[in-house]
Amino acid sequence: MIESVVDVEGNVNQIVKKQRVYFHAGSTKSREFRISQLKKLYNSIVKNEEKIKNALHLDLNKSEFEAYSTEIGFTLKEISEAIKNLENWMKPIRVKTPITHVGTKGRIYREPYGVTLIISPWNYPFQLTMTPLVGAIIGGNTAIIKPSELTPNTSNIIDQMIRELFNEEYVAVVQGGVETSTELLKQKFDFIFFTGSVQVGKIVMEAASKHLTPLVLELGGKSPTIVHHDANLSVTAKRIIWGKFTNAGQTCIAPDYIYVHEKVKNQLIQAMKQEIVQFYGNQPLENEEYTKIVSERHFNRLVNFLKDGKVEHGGQSDSTSHKIEPTILSDISWEASIMDEEIFGPILPILTYHNLDDVITEINQHPKPLALYVFTENKSISNQIIERVPFGGGCVNDTLYHMATPYLPFGGVGESGSGSYHGEYSFKAFTHEKSVLVQTTKIDLKIRYHTTKNALRFI
Ligand code: NAD
Repeated sequence: MIESVVDVEGNVNQIVKKQRVYFHAGSTKSREFRISQLKKLYNSIVKNEEKIKNALHLDLNKSEFEAYSTEIGFTLKEISEAIKNLENWMKPIRVKTPITHVGTKGRIYREPYGVTLIISPWNYPFQLTMTPLVGAIIGGNTAIIKPSELTPNTSNIIDQMIRELFNEEYVAVVQGGVETSTELLKQKFDFIFFTGSVQVGKIVMEAASKHLTPLVLELGGKSPTIVHHDANLSVTAKRIIWGKFTNAGQTCIAPDYIYVHEKVKNQLIQAMKQEIVQFYGNQPLENEEYTKIVSERHFNRLVNFLKDGKVEHGGQSDSTSHKIEPTILSDISWEASIMDEEIFGPILPILTYHNLDDVITEINQHPKPLALYVFTENKSISNQIIERVPFGGGCVNDTLYHMATPYLPFGGVGESGSGSYHGEYSFKAFTHEKSVLVQTTKIDLKIRYHTTKNALRFI
């Protein structure tokens, strides 16, 4: 761990310089190089699987199942997808040219940005660091990674793995908190990939603007879940409970709150209570597989929300283990403090509606959500929501699952973020779309050089 601001500044400055020289030497750009780095990374993750699981357990009490499915397995899938498709993704794309450009060829090349910075959060500390790194590698860039200080065990194993695998001219880890991040952001990078809160996203964007550095922001916010009266309630309940309480609600795209049609409110609550017991038992605080809240600050913030409504289920917490029971709250209005900010914990407030138009109007008065989920058997209902509510991405009749396919771009819009990644979208995020027109000297149309009335009309 780096000690003082002076150390950080000097160290960071050195690494950026070294990476820029290394990048310009060109070796990160060939497909063979990118593929061999991906393979090294893949093998290292497989080799260190137990250590990574252990670190995630220490930092967040993540179960083995969650550690594998949402962090390790997810990252391995991204890498294998990239290995399989990189050749194709890297091919320049030929585009047509207009009649005015007769004899020319239009091509789009995907050019690496150069020295990139990846800043990641604590909630999926392995996956949300490694998946952007996969993007940096497949894009042909170098990378400096700043993992979260709130999950030190995972940050340490990432640090160890990266040091074993790569020279710091190519990929380096810089550990630390806000001060380190601030120092990093003073440097001139060629691209920044930030995952974290809306508030820090604004700081990162401001810092990037000083050097006009392009960036992707993967932020958060309140993701609504709408349950219409015709929804298949038992499946709906299961998918909401799974999506909400995985990682104890500390998921950027977790259903933040539910808007349920008043006709089915009680039935939905009943079905969700049963699902909570199915997933976590009658005493979730004793359940060793149940994730804890990352810090005391977040624990206290969340416990305060418990008094905001009527507790339908759960409501207990343990300040020693930092665990909060999966909790359902009803009698909630938009005036409640729990509706002011992203919850990011295992508390699920329920609002009801009579008229879908009111739901759409209300959601549209708030920042554009990162995710939105709608449960209905009626396509015209889901289509109305999709057409009339802006949001990053989401599902009809499911939660979270849209982020687990490499074929859909994952990202927010407006306050929930800008840009996207996963699969080929990571390759696109970490490269510049460079347009090149290849002209011929065999034809040289005179008309293009004229400024007569006719020529202008032609153009
Ligand atoms: P955070 O914004 O507090 O921290 C993220 C990173 O930024 C950390 O590495 C941290 O050290 C650094 N940081 C913190 N303060 C900083 C500052 N003032 N200047 C520069 N860097 C700073 O976020 P978090 O608490 O780690 O994560 C939770 C948030 O991240 C939630 O809002 C969640 O929705 C969001 N998130 C989004 C996604 C996504 O893919 N869109 C994924 C996970 C989490």
